[in-house]
Amino acid sequence: MATAAQSKKTKIKATTGEPQAFQAEVAKILRLMVHSVYSDRDVFLRELISNASDALDKLRYEAISAPDLLEKEPELSIMLVPDKAAGTLTVTDSGLGMTADDLASNLGTIARSGTEAFMKDAKDGAPDLIGQFGVGFYSAFMVADKVEVFSRRAGEKQAHLWTSDGLGTFTVTKTDPMPRGTRIVLHLKPDALDYLDDWKIESIVRSYSDHIVHPIMLAGETPRQINSGSAIWMRGKADVTAEQHREFFGSLSHSTEAPALTIHYRAEGRQEYNVLLYVPGEKPFDLYDPERRGRQKLYVRRVFIADDAQLLPPYLRFVRGVIDSADMPLNLSREMLQNNPDVAAIRKAVTNRVLADLKKCADSDAAAFGKIWETFAPVIKEGLYEDMERRDQLFEIARFRSTKGENVSLRDYVAGLKENQTAIYYLTAEDAAKAKASPQLEGYRARDVEVLLLTDPVDSFWVRTALGFDGKPFKSVTQGVSDLDVIKPAQERDVPAAADAATTALVAALQQALGNKVKEVRVSKRLTDSAVCLVADGLMDRTLERLLSRQQDSGVSMSAPVLEVNAGHGLIKALAALAEARGPGAVADAAHLLLDQAQVLEGEPVADPAAFARRMAEVMQRAFS
Ligand code: ADP
Repeated sequence: MATAAQSKKTKIKATTGEPQAFQAEVAKILRLMVHSVYSDRDVFLRELISNASDALDKLRYEAISAPDLLEKEPELSIMLVPDKAAGTLTVTDSGLGMTADDLASNLGTIARSGTEAFMKDAKDGAPDLIGQFGVGFYSAFMVADKVEVFSRRAGEKQAHLWTSDGLGTFTVTKTDPMPRGTRIVLHLKPDALDYLDDWKIESIVRSYSDHIVHPIMLAGETPRQINSGSAIWMRGKADVTAEQHREFFGSLSHSTEAPALTIHYRAEGRQEYNVLLYVPGEKPFDLYDPERRGRQKLYVRRVFIADDAQLLPPYLRFVRGVIDSADMPLNLSREMLQNNPDVAAIRKAVTNRVLADLKKCADSDAAAFGKIWETFAPVIKEGLYEDMERRDQLFEIARFRSTKGENVSLRDYVAGLKENQTAIYYLTAEDAAKAKASPQLEGYRARDVEVLLLTDPVDSFWVRTALGFDGKPFKSVTQGVSDLDVIKPAQERDVPAAADAATTALVAALQQALGNKVKEVRVSKRLTDSAVCLVADGLMDRTLERLLSRQQDSGVSMSAPVLEVNAGHGLIKALAALAEARGPGAVADAAHLLLDQAQVLEGEPVADPAAFARRMAEVMQRAFS
């Protein structure tokens, strides 16, 4: 897997002849490799062959505009040479090759975006790391205690040798003339000598690398090709087995798991192209990388063109695979890809197809779709505010947790609307536990009105711009006075108590005690059990306000909330009586404690812990003495 990473590779200069230290993350990966307990060591060969194939693809692509690069040696192939006497396995390709600086940069650092963050979380020695992340070239050190990489870049004279034992440093030196491309010599560890057996090599290649379009040759008296070399995406849907999909997906994603969904078809008509895409079963490690790069490869008539053509929108970036066009020109430059109308048409059609197949999966296999949604929902939902054109399609597949269940679709929700209910109610919160504990829900619960519990940060954003679903607007339960009056409570006792004169006086007293800490104090229509809660006053939901206020450059700070009190609650009644008997000053401490309590219910710390503790101690002392 090469080209996408290319642009942001850390450049290092080779200090020819002297040992150079690996980048810290690489050293860490190498420690994992050298002491590997990973059972699936075979993948090293898949990784080296995949790199060789990428190098051949890159050369073929560059040679379209610069044919001289082929140097009258047009053959593009990969050769595997086991040498039992020397205990080495050599992987040779006639691809683009590397300069001395390429060797130092590519094989001394990790180019893949998101690696640093990923490595920080990875515990030393985690064996599943390789499966999740795919370490590419460095996996050679699972089977070899010394690796030599001879390479000559196409068009250059001088060849170079990179060598390392994987223990902290590598060395790059000049070396003797050699054919264009790269030759990797693995000095196998004593326990890895079975990788010299022809049958073993053949079986690994057949399992992992059969689809590679360049010939993979096994050296012998007469070298022979051991892969079938047919591009799997060009075959008919019925001609590819689940196992073959799993292998091909593995080679694209470095994963050993089966894909969760396979999308394989041939588009015909104005444009002809083959599509083979996979939805992974697990989150790729770079899912939240800020670059939000897509992972779909563009081929033209089986010639690799680019893997950064953004063939799907960023909110589908986790989908992996290949799109192979039959009619686009081969000499398409990367810049031209941006504005090419054919690419745009393919992008549009394939995006719609992916969404349609996700919908099909949602309709026919709720459990399978539930897993996909759980894994990728936070990313797919970015589309709800980025892709207005497909927002309704996305709403059709979106699933939510609600006060009544898991995996609720908007159709389900709308089907369960109560009499006089005109909106889709939601509550945003930082996690499900906080959401469920929110006093905001009480009035809705009393009326048996379902509320969507939105707990992904992205929810606060799309829900603000969403116009609604099926003609019903989305409405936050924390905003403003809600329209609960017209919906009948299930039980009479849940009708919110109306404010009498004493409560009205209490509200004024609380307001006076709290000053500008609150926007307003008022009697609640939504509370049935709790004494108090906070609601937002402005247009912005409190969860969103909190999210934005944490971002330094957003310019948003938390505004003073509205404190709502439950006129039917025993405590509020008692305070009203107290204020009536002894005047507003008697409830000043209680006012602050009520505000603190409401804050805590939102999952926030109290504003002034010392004052809170003092007041609490006084109240308890009075109660208990
Ligand atoms: P990845 O392939 O995911 O980028 P690797 O660690 O496997 O990560 O390889 C790092 C880089 O080294 C590749 O991106 C490529 O630029 C370069 N490279 C590796 N093998 C070869 C090869 N056989 N020929 C040319 N370049 C190679």
